[in-house]
Amino acid sequence: MLLNLHTHLEGRVRPATARELGARLGLPEPAGGWEAALQLSAPSDLTCYLEKVSATYPFFADRTCLTRIAREAVEDAAADGQDYIELRFGPASHVGGSRDLDEVIAAVCEGTAQGAAITGIGAGAIVCALRLHDGETNEAVARAAARFAGRGVVGFDLAGDEILYPDLGAVAPAFGIAGAAGLGLTCHAAEAGPASAAIEAANLLGVTRIGHGTHIAEDPGVLREIAARGIVIEVCPTSNWYTGGIAGLRAHPARHFHACGVPVVLGDDNPRQTGSPLSAERQLLRETLGFSDAALRTLDKASIAAGFMEPALRERLARQLADSS
Ligand SMILES: [Zn+2]
Repeated sequence: MLLNLHTHLEGRVRPATARELGARLGLPEPAGGWEAALQLSAPSDLTCYLEKVSATYPFFADRTCLTRIAREAVEDAAADGQDYIELRFGPASHVGGSRDLDEVIAAVCEGTAQGAAITGIGAGAIVCALRLHDGETNEAVARAAARFAGRGVVGFDLAGDEILYPDLGAVAPAFGIAGAAGLGLTCHAAEAGPASAAIEAANLLGVTRIGHGTHIAEDPGVLREIAARGIVIEVCPTSNWYTGGIAGLRAHPARHFHACGVPVVLGDDNPRQTGSPLSAERQLLRETLGFSDAALRTLDKASIAAGFMEPALRERLARQLADSS
């Protein structure tokens, strides 16, 4: 079973679509072609990684582009064997001209729904606030996300540079708005910042899931608290390697998290940039990080429990998992 609980729309643009949209939008094709422009050829650092991700921003230029990229992202997830995907994106990066936050979110929700209808897999959208934006902008993003609760948006997240913008106080009201609307809450934390950032995110923002959280492994006290509170860690091993967050794939703490009783779920973060879709990440858990069948089953159950999907879809996925045993 494959549930993708941490993946970015900006990390799933097809090179062929980039070529076609680039020609229509008047974007000059890079010398080595779009595929090379979007994909990292080797592990690097967070700056290079984020540059490759933001290279896709010009393609989010209008409603048609947004809908198409979202639809294709769900189609690609289904082709990879994924049963459910939560597509996250930062709408404030894609407003401009006549496009406001509502139009950007509506277009992505439309594409996500189209992809789900075509493929039959489950799909929902997670709206990201961004660390580099001020509190007011992120509150506007949260209010817009709240208007789409029950209409395609299932969750709310905080993404961006954790070192440059570690303060969570300014974004807390935005999470209050999103939580009051019934959206699931998650936050990129303890990926570049210290382990304590994960506890801070849980306490200040009320999140039930932490994106990446690799540094949590370095602080036994924080790790114990995360396990005791049942806070879920969304692991994305290849992404953490490519951003320089871990020394190598074998150094990823996913199995340690699992052994300490922390619920672990899986994502592929930005598969276009890393070249590693969710199916490969799962294989990596088994073959490189030593997850047994039982550990993977625990991960599947945790994913179904922690996903931000509607109850009917959660039940369907739980039945599917039970039938596969
Ligand atoms: Zn991420």
